[in-house]
Order: sequence, then C-alpha cells, then structure tokens
Amino acid sequence: MRGNERKIALFLHLAAYMTVSWEADRNRLYDQLASAMGQSPVLEAMRSVPRELFVPTQLRHLAYRNTALAIGHGQTISQPAMVVRMTLALSLRGDERVLEVGAGSGYQAAILGELLPFGHVIAVERIPELVQTARRNLAACRISNVDVQCATDVLGAPDAGPYDSILVSAAAPTVPHALIAQLKPLGRLVIPVGSLGRQVLTLVRVLDNRPVIRQLTQCQFVPLVGPEAWPSGGNPPAA
Ligand code: SAH
Repeated sequence: MRGNERKIALFLHLAAYMTVSWEADRNRLYDQLASAMGQSPVLEAMRSVPRELFVPTQLRHLAYRNTALAIGHGQTISQPAMVVRMTLALSLRGDERVLEVGAGSGYQAAILGELLPFGHVIAVERIPELVQTARRNLAACRISNVDVQCATDVLGAPDAGPYDSILVSAAAPTVPHALIAQLKPLGRLVIPVGSLGRQVLTLVRVLDNRPVIRQLTQCQFVPLVGPEAWPSGGNPPAA
C-alpha cells in the first residue's frame, strides 16, 4: 500500500471503530434510561436522533454519557434524562404546535420534531451563532417541522402562537406571565424555576383560565435571559 492509501485505510478503520463504539454507548445509555424511567415514545425518538451530531466535535466521544455538555457561548445541551423528563411532561399526541425557548444545539427541538409528525415546533434562541448551529444540526438530521428563530426583546414567540405546549430549556426566577399568555387553553408549560444555581422543574397547566402548578424534580439549567428572567452577563454554573 502506498502512503496515501494506508492513511485512507487507517481513517476508514478508525471511523468504523468509532461508529461501533457509539452504537454500544448509545444502546447502553438508552437501555439505562428505559429501565430507570420506563420505555416511551420519547426514548424511541431519542434513539433515532444522533446526539453526537449536536455536540462539538471535540466532545463527541461523550455524546452518550448521561450528562449535559458544553456547546459554546457558555451554554449546554441538556442531560438526556432531563430531556426525557421535560418532553414526557408535555404528554404530546403528535399534532400539536410547540414552542421551545432556548434552542441551543437544536437537540431538544429535534426530539420534539420527531414526536410531532403532524405538528410543528418553533424554537427561539437568543445567541445568533447558536441559531445557525441549531438550524445546521436539524438540517443534517433532515428534520423539517422545526423552525429556529432568533429571539427578540419579547420572551417566546407570541406572533407564531398560541401553543399547545411550551418547553423552556433555561432557568427563570419565576414562571414568566408572558409565556403563560402564549399558551392555548389547557396548554402545558414546562420550565426550570428557581435560583441561578438550583431549580425545580415545574409544570404549569392553564385550567379554567387559572395556572395550576406542579413541581416535578430538582434540576440545574443555564439562565433564561431577558424580561421576567435574568439579566445577561452573569455566568452561573451550567447544567
Ligand atoms: N435545548 C438546548 C439547550 C440550550 S441551553 C439543546 O438541546 O441544546 C439554553 C439556551 O437558552 C441557550 O442556548 C441560551 O442562549 C438560550 N436562551 C437564554 N435565554 C433565552 C431567551 N430569552 N430566549 C431564547 N433563548 C434563550
């Protein structure tokens, strides 16, 4: 073999090895999540979306650890178990209109898109570079029912609403009224609520025009920035 051919053979070998080891890591993670949290369409959707495509190249070997990972700009892709919890809390049927606030890498929006064959996802993101990243990642996965929009001064995306469900991937000090106002009657809002370092994942349902609040589990998310949330510039611990 000549030098170049040897390099190509080595590269193909390495690529095959990495695919195989991802496969094993992926099965291990989803089997663990299924035994801890039960089998569900959410987990099936997660199995079909390659998480490694949503994390930076240098962290791809960690894509199937059950942890949040840095995606640049001080932000993180959420822990897989948290993606399961948040998505399950929406009780999706498959035909809803859903808003995600905090698109980041686009991974959570991709899972929502997979679960909504007859529905639509609007995902807003305040960091323009991440808007591009999320769009690129979703296109690479051929997910076409998710629109990623750049966030404006108004929290959420009221012009494209109202929504059956809203999932907020960043933490707020209180439940923002602006988001409740973007829900349809009987809609669901899932959002981490608490201090900068520690929050409770909270489910809000609007029943008889009144918000009904249920606390689901402890969590730790990056801050939601803007009106009814945190000022930009703070750098609290990421999750
Ligand atoms: N769901 C993402 C995780 C993103 S981390 C994923 O699957 O990768 C939270 C994201 O919320 C960050 O990218 C941050 O920039 C964004 N964010 C914070 N405040 C926001 C706001 N007011 N509107 C839109 N996005 C916001």
